[in-house]
Parts: sequence; C-alpha cells; structure tokens
Amino acid sequence: GIRFEKVVKRFGRNVVLRELDFSVAPGERVTLIGPSGSGKTTILRLLMTLEKLDEGLIWIGDQTLWHMDKGGKRVPANQKHLHEMRKQVGMVFQQFNLFPNMNVRRNLTEGPVRVLGVSKDEADERARKLLDLVGLADKIDAHPSQLSGGQQQRVAIARALAMEPNVLLLDEVTSALDPELVVGVQDLLRDIARESDLTMLCVTHEMHFAKDISDRVLMFDQGQIVEEGPPDQIFGEPAEQRTRDFLQAVL
Ligand code: ATP
Repeated sequence: GIRFEKVVKRFGRNVVLRELDFSVAPGERVTLIGPSGSGKTTILRLLMTLEKLDEGLIWIGDQTLWHMDKGGKRVPANQKHLHEMRKQVGMVFQQFNLFPNMNVRRNLTEGPVRVLGVSKDEADERARKLLDLVGLADKIDAHPSQLSGGQQQRVAIARALAMEPNVLLLDEVTSALDPELVVGVQDLLRDIARESDLTMLCVTHEMHFAKDISDRVLMFDQGQIVEEGPPDQIFGEPAEQRTRDFLQAVL
C-alpha cells in the first residue's frame, strides 16, 4: 500500500500539498479528483520520486522515502534505497512516453532486463503475454510512431506491468487520446484493476472512469482532501459543497 503522513510540498512560495494525510490499502484502487492545479499530479510524481517532499513521510509498502538515522533524525533515502522503491511503482503518463527509438518488444523488455536483471528470454516471454493482454500481439515489431495514440497507450500500460510493480499510478491516461479511443483504454484498465491485486492510484478528469475503476474516490482541493468515499457516495450524494460545485462544473 501507500501512506502519506503530513506531507508538505512547496514550489517556491506556492504550497501545493498542505500536511496531506491519506493511505491506499494493498490491492485497493483509489482515484483522485479535483480542480486543475490542486496538486494531484504532484502526488504521483512524489511517489515516483520525480519530486522531493519538503515535510512529512511517504510510505510505499513498509519502506519510506526517508530514513531515520541513529539519532532518530530524518534523512533522505539513499540512492540504493530509492532504486528499490522505484522498482515497486509503475506509472502510466498522459503522453505515453514510450522510448521512440525502440520497437514495442524492446520498450517492454528494456526495463525488466536492465533494472530487474530478468533474462532476455524471460523478458521476451513476458512481453508477448502482456501484448496479448492489451490486444497488440501483432505489433511486437512495430515502432511507436507506427501506432495510434490508443495503441501507444496500451503499450505503455503493458510496459508498466512488465516491471511487475506492486503499485500502479495512472496520470490522466486518456486525456491525450482521440475520443473514440478513450473507452477501449479505460475498459482495459478496468479489467486489469479487477483481475489483478495491484494497488492503483489514479488521477482523472473523467468521472465515469473514476466511478468505474475505483473502490474509493478522494476529492482534492488546494492541497488537501475535501471529502472521500466510495464512488456511489461521492458522485451520488456528495456531502461537501466544494465537491458538489466541482462535479456540477465537470459533469
Ligand atoms: P491538473 O489537473 O491540471 O493536472 P493537478 O491537480 O495535477 O492539476 P499539479 O500538476 O499537481 O496539479 O500542480 C499543483 C500546483 O503545483 C500548480 O499550482 C502548479 O503550477 C504547481 N507546480 C507543479 N509542478 C511544478 C514545478 N515543477 N515547478 C513549479 N510549480 C509547479
């Protein structure tokens, strides 16, 4: 699972996360919704260690992004420790971010071979299975530029899964797709969510997707959680005015 404890994140004078507390249980699927600029992507980037936190603790499984030294003082995790943590977390980005100069097979095998030390044969086998899962077995030798946006995003999902992460982070994964490709990618992710025991944390502006994929929805505003609950409650009978205003604006 994931746990944020009083996490503060600032960009200069802009306080983006204000003593944020929340957790995601192992195997739970949680979606973050809320206005643009409220800090949702920052949460995912912190978990990917693409950003540093200013205060608080972030736990992934039983490890933190910080160590306690002998005097009980917090010190940033060392590189080796960070590397171990990163291996547990997979992320799918809005803009796919495939390696453009590698074919689909190498996009899927590069990480497992280089980072996890998996043998080339095993990585190939894993790549084939995952491409089957995402419906792109016939594209194994294609280059990303030869694929549609929806196909690239399916490859990106397969690539994240190839690392066998415990935690999967999804950042606006369909917002760069042509409208007719959105549902296919969302259905794929919903099926993966139902059939795996992955812990998933998802940021989306698509409320029906949030409803479909989540066990729990966190409504987020100005660096804090305004309201949380199962999707039926958040979308059906939100308790907070800010949630109602937000949903009225986006639905
Ligand atoms: P959106 O829904 O539009 O993606 P968000 O809720 O994901 O928004 P974030 O991208 O997390 O919001 O951004 C939160 C705030 O942090 C914004 O005010 C943004 O301008 C600021 N911010 C994010 N990254 C940086 C950065 N690298 N440098 C400075 N400010 C940043």
